[in-house]
Amino acid sequence: MPGKRHYQTTWNAQHSLPSDDQMPNLQRHQQTILFRLRTGHCRLRAHMHRLGLSHTPNCPCETGPQTPEHILQTCPLHQEARTDHWPQGATLQEQLWGTKDSLIRTTSFIQATKLEV
Ligand SMILES: [Zn+2]
Repeated sequence: MPGKRHYQTTWNAQHSLPSDDQMPNLQRHQQTILFRLRTGHCRLRAHMHRLGLSHTPNCPCETGPQTPEHILQTCPLHQEARTDHWPQGATLQEQLWGTKDSLIRTTSFIQATKLEV
């Protein structure tokens, strides 16, 4: 399994990150959360299932696979935290690729859900 540094370099090259990406300006633990959400390579069930580490890809809410997009946008289990963080709503693009404030808000939301990503 390649090291994290190799993996991130490869991923950046494949996705040609926008030069105004704010992720490098976040604290390290915030970067880790965001990186996992962006790649989908995280401890959420949809990915763990692909790795054979979860018996189901589905979220405990049973409305769909537990992906980053599901958690950030639609999961009813986290509606309250979502409304707290984005009273006006927010697109996935804003949540994952927005301003520094948007990105910090996303990491704060994930911490509020108590999910390990
Ligand atoms: Zn859910």
